[in-house]
Amino acid sequence: KILAFTLAATLMLGFTGCNNSKPVGGEQKGIKVGVAMPTKSLQRWNQDAENIQKKLTDKGYEVDIQFAENKVDAQVSQIENMVTKGAKVIVAVAIDGSALSSVLDDAKATGVKVISYDRLIMNTDAVDYYATFDNYSVGQIQGQYIEEKLGLKEGKGPYNFEIATGPLDDNNVVYFFGGAMDVLKPYVDKGQLVVRSKQTTREQCATPNWEENKAQERMDNILTANYTSERLDAVLCSNDSVSLGVQSALKSAGYGTSDKPMPILTGQDANIANVKAIVAGEQSMSVFKDTRALADKVVEMVDAVVQGKEPDVNDTKSYNNGKKVVPSYLLRPVAVDKDNYKKLLVESGYYTEDELK
Ligand code: BGC
Repeated sequence: KILAFTLAATLMLGFTGCNNSKPVGGEQKGIKVGVAMPTKSLQRWNQDAENIQKKLTDKGYEVDIQFAENKVDAQVSQIENMVTKGAKVIVAVAIDGSALSSVLDDAKATGVKVISYDRLIMNTDAVDYYATFDNYSVGQIQGQYIEEKLGLKEGKGPYNFEIATGPLDDNNVVYFFGGAMDVLKPYVDKGQLVVRSKQTTREQCATPNWEENKAQERMDNILTANYTSERLDAVLCSNDSVSLGVQSALKSAGYGTSDKPMPILTGQDANIANVKAIVAGEQSMSVFKDTRALADKVVEMVDAVVQGKEPDVNDTKSYNNGKKVVPSYLLRPVAVDKDNYKKLLVESGYYTEDELK
């Protein structure tokens, strides 16, 4: 089967080869690029996809974008298909970072270049480059926000604190969780932050598939078991969907009034629903990752690999995927809260005022 697949893919590549000769004057006419996205259910991936599609199409590439609704098998067959249809480059956001080794090894064998987008694809040397935001810094920004708002450096506390992070199969979570806990764990150890649920490991604090309702369910249970007479002061939420789930659980438990205000809550992505929650005082902050900049970076990488050049990278040591250290370009994430959201999100044209009403 693998042989047949390889043969078919090789034939397809050979067949489209006449279009794929050296691009002329920056025009990448007809060169096929497959883009594998995880799901439409989260705002950011739709935005990422739109940006990439537009920028690649403007340059003359033929773009095949697929969403897999968080189904690993579906994503594998979508990538298989892209290769069979003659993709020269695959840009992929893995659902399960470790589930793409075999399909990508096959792709590599036919000469396809692979760019890991936002999440690192693990356990394969088929990944050529990685474009992402500095994931460790995302976690650090969240941790430092909680540290500052609670006055932990000044020795304040004890405060009640809980953690809600992402799934175990997303390699980014190692960095989000790690970056935040490197800031906050010393305060847990000193007793300035008290985790009443005692759930402090990445495994205990995981949210499968980053699902809002899973985060809500887990926080419902934590609140019922530990916070009937105690008040929760801060929750580290690794992204915006998790933060929304936590917010729903908190509201059901009576938080969000002047008597019982919401705890300090973090997030990531600056999704519209969450920016509204920030404006309404229900979420404290989010981490803004400008997906326009990431799309620009990945399009630059695609251009370079198609032309047989080395793309620009700024990190060649942080991201080891188990088989190789993948040359990466890390963009800088920034904290957004109600003091700077207008400047960062509206004045930069990321959202219109109307979208945030
Ligand atoms: C991304 C986040 C996103 C999350 C859920 C992560 O890998 O880096 O921006 O919120 O996946 O889709």
